[in-house]
Amino acid sequence: MSEPFSPGSVTKQLDNCTYCPKMCRHACPVSTASGRETHIPQAKMDRLNQIRLGRSPWTQETTDPLWACTGCRHCTSYCDHDNEPGMVLFAGRAAAVAKGITHPALTNYSERFRAREERLSAQLKAAFPERLATTGEIGLWPGCDAIDKGTADIAAAFSVFERVGLDDVKLVDAPQACAGYPLLAAGHRDLFRWHAGRVAASLRGFRKVAINCSACLYALRAQYAAEGVNVRPEIVAVADLLGPAANNLACPVGSPEAGARRSVYYHDPCYHARYNGVMDAPRRALGQLVEVRELAWNRGDTECCGGGGLLPKTMPMVADQMAKRRLAEVHATGGGLVVTSCATCAFMLKRNAPASVEVADLATAMAQLSGTVFSAPTVAATDDD
Ligand code: SF4
Ligand code: SF4
Repeated sequence: MSEPFSPGSVTKQLDNCTYCPKMCRHACPVSTASGRETHIPQAKMDRLNQIRLGRSPWTQETTDPLWACTGCRHCTSYCDHDNEPGMVLFAGRAAAVAKGITHPALTNYSERFRAREERLSAQLKAAFPERLATTGEIGLWPGCDAIDKGTADIAAAFSVFERVGLDDVKLVDAPQACAGYPLLAAGHRDLFRWHAGRVAASLRGFRKVAINCSACLYALRAQYAAEGVNVRPEIVAVADLLGPAANNLACPVGSPEAGARRSVYYHDPCYHARYNGVMDAPRRALGQLVEVRELAWNRGDTECCGGGGLLPKTMPMVADQMAKRRLAEVHATGGGLVVTSCATCAFMLKRNAPASVEVADLATAMAQLSGTVFSAPTVAATDDD
């Protein structure tokens, strides 16, 4: 991320957007869900620009639209200038936080983040003590939402890894549970830099680390380097492990045992599709077991589920509405199974799914569709941050 408001970078983008005839307004899932003109990308960027230029004061009220963004990058896909409103608005949040202004829902966020880290790290150790390691060939970093709300998905991932011959995957044993993307989204850039250094040290003993959170994968690959933090192992998505190995599962495409193949929708997490380039691997993995059906907005044009940018904290009803919109077309065509490859997306879509729609994490879907047995420790899900 560029320095907030440094000449020639962020300021140029803010000026471009201020004078733009709103070319990307249709692409923002937040403004579409909220129905508010102040939430379209052009209006949010103009608001930040007016504050930067001193035409508007830094207050909680004036900065409120900065929090109406998941960083999903869909606006960038339709911008002739390749502007990045998501990252610029996050920089604006950091500037606001530096002035002591934050969203009311994120009061004391740094302390809450640290407390959650401690709780989830202990929870992971208690749930999977035999799988923990500090060194090894491949480490699995489930991500905080998976530990908090998806321990069954973690158990399923290990069952599938073993089934496809990936026997050398270990859970990363670390005092941290999250790679830190929420700190960036909350505007705590200094704390993110400090946290990134600690996470990088925890990952150092592995050759490769697979992560099941699309936003933290982006943070580890791009934002750590931007903050001068070196990450030693190769960082990949869980889907990147499963994609090449999935042909070792039973009933591959075309086999007599496969019989009539079920068709299953795949939801592209926006950070995977537009930042990480993770689109083919999950389809390849899932395609060994089912026919993969596409949602109307897919791949690089996917729509955010509402889970990014801390929107579930700052605008929970809008975030839930985004997830409902994402699943509406599945419901309209009779329902079915929707699979995704990010713990946050899985949580958001599950909690907003109509009765006709089932949502599953990629590893869990692959385990269930291939008859791979797994059992998970019972852990009570929470919704704090
Ligand atoms: S991101 Fe691009 S298309 Fe969207 S408002 Fe800004 S300049 Fe216009
Ligand atoms: S990054 Fe996504 S949520 Fe943010 S302004 Fe652009 S389209 Fe809207």
